[in-house]
Amino acid sequence: NLSERLDRSFKLLKGEGKITEINVAETLKDVRKALLDADVNYKVAKSFTDTVKEKALGQNVLTSVKPSQLMVKIVHDELASLMGGTAVDVNLQGNPAIILMSGLQGSGKTTFTGKLASLLKTKKNKKPLLAACDVYRPAAIEQLRVVGEQVGVPVYMELENKNPVEIAMNAIREARAKGNDVVIVDTAGRLAIDEQMMNEIAAIKSAIQPDETLFVVDAMTGQDAVNTAREFNERLNFDGVVLTKLDGDTRGGAALSIRTVVDKPIKFVGTGEKMDALDIFHPERMADRILGMGDIVSLVERAQEQYDEEEAKRLQKKIAKNQFDFNDFISQIQQIKKMGNLKELASMIPGVGKALKDVDIDDNAFKSIEAIIYSMTPDERSNPAILNGSRRQRIAKGSGTSIQEVNKLIKQFDETRKMMRMLTSAKSGKMKLPSMK
Ligand code: GDP
Ligand code: MG
Repeated sequence: NLSERLDRSFKLLKGEGKITEINVAETLKDVRKALLDADVNYKVAKSFTDTVKEKALGQNVLTSVKPSQLMVKIVHDELASLMGGTAVDVNLQGNPAIILMSGLQGSGKTTFTGKLASLLKTKKNKKPLLAACDVYRPAAIEQLRVVGEQVGVPVYMELENKNPVEIAMNAIREARAKGNDVVIVDTAGRLAIDEQMMNEIAAIKSAIQPDETLFVVDAMTGQDAVNTAREFNERLNFDGVVLTKLDGDTRGGAALSIRTVVDKPIKFVGTGEKMDALDIFHPERMADRILGMGDIVSLVERAQEQYDEEEAKRLQKKIAKNQFDFNDFISQIQQIKKMGNLKELASMIPGVGKALKDVDIDDNAFKSIEAIIYSMTPDERSNPAILNGSRRQRIAKGSGTSIQEVNKLIKQFDETRKMMRMLTSAKSGKMKLPSMK
């Protein structure tokens, strides 16, 4: 597990406030290893870790986050941003819009053709026609026919014709005649790249001028996926990648390699043999998967959003001097909202937990409180003592609440402030604050 390994390499450097050259070098060895384990291409892993190194150096480590955790976060974010970017919708401009499938035999073209047709039909209200251009095996045409039947989409086929270019052209003509607004062209693949296959798919492409050419690749083929992607891209200059068979236990490193090597977006992932096992590609999820870790990233995110000890100390001083005001109050509320799981977390936040004790805590619970505080002037927020009757009236009006609600909040705030002072002095300045372990 990557985060455990990173933990180990950071052991000696605990307590250091910044990520330095030395600990980055150490850690990135582990990151590179994790990437290679996930089948990321060696060169890609190397250039990736170089980029991360630049980003990580000199970053301040929050006191509540371990450097190793921060590194994981940096690595994760960089992975996600590399695999993401640019619009990933399928281009459906043409009428009919023409989508060409490419890829090796067994990569999942025919299956994906059905899945995509089903998606376009149900989600985009399209009327697709499937074109059976894998003419070498009768079984291939039959397979597409079955797939079409499953998703309720017509299939154009010519059992006697062995010319895929002609079939594709005829399918497009048929679509125009029958009012189909999308044609998905399923093609033949070989077990490995060969010239004949490449020539054929290139000829189909130049004849039909597709709006979108998709390259389908089996995620489980790992390193080979990169070479295949490169060669197909050189010949076809495809628009996007479909990564299939991610329901297996592959870590999906191919996603990163392909994205880096051919610089084309991954648009869909296949997660099963059934027609509904199609997902839009989520860079964040893929980054998690490649790194082989689920919770660590969200943990770090939560930790980063929590205040560090400086902030806690500052607050404590204000409380001791009875200067805790509505500005602090609202910033606390914002902290809680960011962290999620409000019931659990609110009780740990000084000041707010008490004020909310009668409130049923959910995301809406804060709405009127926030509205009230935002309707106060800066003066009123930092100096609640000036909140007289007419000011309260104005605030109630401005926030769309009632004078009773405003009074109640101010009363709770006052009580909270008193409580907090008592607590802090009782504990001689050692107040308990949430902290990540
Ligand atoms: P083609 O030769 O490129 O047309 O590939 P096929 O669509 O015929 O798929 C080859 C095999 O992979 C078939 O047995 C499919 O059921 C299977 N397959 C395709 N996509 C997926 C997927 O996302 N997950 C799994 N588990 N199997 C898939
Ligand atoms: Mg096929």
